[in-house]
Amino acid sequence: MKELICLGIETTAHTFGIGIVTSKGKVLANYKKAYTTEKGGIIPYHLFEHHTNVATEVLEDALKIAGVKIQDIGLISYSNAPGLGNALRVGAFVARYLAGKYKIPLVGVNHCIAHLEIGRLLTNAKDPVLLYASGANTQIIAYEGKKYRIFGETLDIGVGNFLDSFARHIGLGFPGGPKIEELARKYAENEKNKNINIDNYKEDKNNINHNVPDLIDLPYSVKGMDVAFGGLLTNLKQKFDSDKFSKEELCYSVQETVFAMLVEVSERAIAHTGKNELLLGGGVACNKRLQEMCRIMCEERGAKFFVPANDVLVDNGLMIAWNGILAFKNNGYKCIKIENADIKPYERTDEVVVKWR
Ligand code: AMP
Ligand code: MG
Repeated sequence: MKELICLGIETTAHTFGIGIVTSKGKVLANYKKAYTTEKGGIIPYHLFEHHTNVATEVLEDALKIAGVKIQDIGLISYSNAPGLGNALRVGAFVARYLAGKYKIPLVGVNHCIAHLEIGRLLTNAKDPVLLYASGANTQIIAYEGKKYRIFGETLDIGVGNFLDSFARHIGLGFPGGPKIEELARKYAENEKNKNINIDNYKEDKNNINHNVPDLIDLPYSVKGMDVAFGGLLTNLKQKFDSDKFSKEELCYSVQETVFAMLVEVSERAIAHTGKNELLLGGGVACNKRLQEMCRIMCEERGAKFFVPANDVLVDNGLMIAWNGILAFKNNGYKCIKIENADIKPYERTDEVVVKWR
């Protein structure tokens, strides 16, 4: 049988992405264009316009990169959930059009699950707990009884949106996560250099580690297995507006605090499920300090730690294509009718029955 090639379309939020992958897991293309703003957040109508404007170009370039023609594609997959209606609708429309015009089978996949599956394809993770830390989503997900269950999640906003809101408040622009990371790293380095002073060591009767800067006291909101960021955001804005703290020290402390929250609940999920692997997904997972903290936690408890490359941590079409292949092949090659290719903006990870595991 000829190898199946799937074209996946990602449009849950800011990214219009197209990925192309074979049923053996060979990556042929992963191309995208993302909506950005100078000021403020996502304006749904502008997002719709962005995705409609870039769709043709991203499609053509992805096919060119993959070295295939649309006629070579044996399956179209699109992210049908969860996400912003105005964005999801563009992906569903492009998917319906291609499937209808070229007579290609069509499947819809859940974006959060796709993050976990692409991690399993591209790393050696077999049955991991996924810390999915992105703009809109923050969930701790693991497989149990035919579903990907949510073992912990944010009770209000996603960690990325939280970082972006704080960054916007202190004038760093969007996306704020990478800028916060940069300021925090510089602050930690400067403090470390300052503290390499022989007097510190003379006084260091209690063997205190002088290489770790002090943290500003911030609210630490872990509630059972869940986390919350709203109160922390208000507290941080007040601290910044009081002019008593520098941007750099706030960025350092915010990272240490919220990443500790995420690591704590991830560790507890690993202990509870008895799984022995942690996998990262989502744009915030590009953060080197978060990766380091997760790695240390895993080392300390003898668990394996996996982090895929940045281009699949962020939203991307490749993971949608790969999850499409898994769903299609393991469901008797059943596809959906074009008129049923709907969107589910509020679908939760644990509503999907996982046929491929
Ligand atoms: P996603 O929604 O998964 O595409 O990820 C987008 C989010 O990831 C935005 O909120 C970004 O600010 C955040 N992000 C990207 N890179 C980093 C980073 N290095 N550190 C922290 N957050 C990041
Ligand atoms: Mg995502």
